[in-house]
Amino acid sequence: MDFGLSDEQRAIVATVRDFVRRELVPHEDLVERLDEVPAELAGQIRGRAIGAGLYAANFPAELGGGGLDELAVTLVERELGWTSYALQWLVARPSNILRACEGDQVQTYLLPTVRGERVDCLAMTEPGAGSDVRSMTTRAARDGADWVLNGAKHFISYADVADFVIVFAVTGTDAGPRGERSAISAFLVDKGTRGFTVGRGASSISHRGYHHCELSFADCRVPGSALLGVEGRGFDLLSEWLGASRLTVAATSVGRARRVLDLATDWAATRKQFGQPIGRFQGVGFALADMAARLEAAELLTMRAAWRLTNGAMSDADAAMAKLFASEMLGRVTDQAVQIFGGAGLMSDLPIERFWRDARVERIWDGTSEIQRHIISRSMLRERGA
Ligand SMILES: Cc1cc2nc3c(=O)[nH]c(=O)nc-3n(C[C@H](O)[C@H](O)[C@H](O)COP(=O)(O)OP(=O)(O)OC[C@H]3O[C@@H](n4cnc5c(N)ncnc54)[C@H](O)[C@@H]3O)c2cc1C
Repeated sequence: MDFGLSDEQRAIVATVRDFVRRELVPHEDLVERLDEVPAELAGQIRGRAIGAGLYAANFPAELGGGGLDELAVTLVERELGWTSYALQWLVARPSNILRACEGDQVQTYLLPTVRGERVDCLAMTEPGAGSDVRSMTTRAARDGADWVLNGAKHFISYADVADFVIVFAVTGTDAGPRGERSAISAFLVDKGTRGFTVGRGASSISHRGYHHCELSFADCRVPGSALLGVEGRGFDLLSEWLGASRLTVAATSVGRARRVLDLATDWAATRKQFGQPIGRFQGVGFALADMAARLEAAELLTMRAAWRLTNGAMSDADAAMAKLFASEMLGRVTDQAVQIFGGAGLMSDLPIERFWRDARVERIWDGTSEIQRHIISRSMLRERGA
């Protein structure tokens, strides 16, 4: 593993960094105040991201994407992590799961989504099925050539903006290692399909302007062609996608922590109490040192996982360790930053309290810290046959 970046990777980082500082950061306060990205602004940003060749960086060039490898995509995500999800998601990327599109799905869903003409979102979580995804109760039943969906999902990010949803539903049972279990399939369902409704969910303290919706399926009929991938194998698609999406959380956590640490260091160097910069007090200086060391460690873990993914060798435990460590590091760094800023850290005229709020969700979505620990320890015990 080479710890240096190639010229090409450095150029990618510089391009994204410049885009984020110029096109996204200036809108942060507005988005925070409105709790939304005005549609016209969102369209402009997405258009500029497409123009700059940054949109859908994770898809192959033949499909109209950026054609970057996973390591380069992780660098892009690290740079996007500098700003909030509401803004970075306008530049980000369609779900990797769409690579499973076949036949007409390619023209209807995959290609327009990679071009930025359509927007996807992904729905697996339900009020009764969070960490235990397989316990979902949304069902899809065959009726002639069609499927009929019934059930409810919640916490579905971006469903208010998306044109279609990749939804997971139980379609039967299969034999698992511990006996019979639900077999889950994935479906592509357009907004506006009869029986499918999207409601604005409760608002979250993290990432204002990036909303999480409630979906309802009541006798929602979709054609047979809405099935994404193989019937009953939706969980495999999900598991394949989760590794990459956990790396996204790790990379964006690293990017955001870097910004917070920069601000905290500036503050510690300039804010004076007792006649000297507060950073000279050991209590503050050591906190900065801990923040920097944790950040470097999280970045190394994340980049190592990304390098392994690029080389086809990333394990579930690699992605879980990166997500666990980086998201917990971000929580710690933002909390220490609030402390270093003192009262000013809690006031809304500085972004520190926002970073602290935004950081909290990273330990929950895409699998909680406990679930990541479960994945890591299970892989360790399996090696010993336990
Ligand atoms: C802001 C936000 C956006 C989201 N966006 C989406 C989205 O777009 N699409 C989507 O499908 N989902 C989305 N989610 C759902 C997210 O993935 C779940 O919230 C997450 O998986 C945890 O599920 P839960 O909230 O139901 O918590 P629960 O599963 O109820 O967990 C509660 C607590 O119990 C612990 N716990 C549970 N099981 C175990 C175990 N086996 N061992 C140890 N501890 C355990 C958890 O770690 C946690 O601390 C989003 C969530 C949030 C908060």
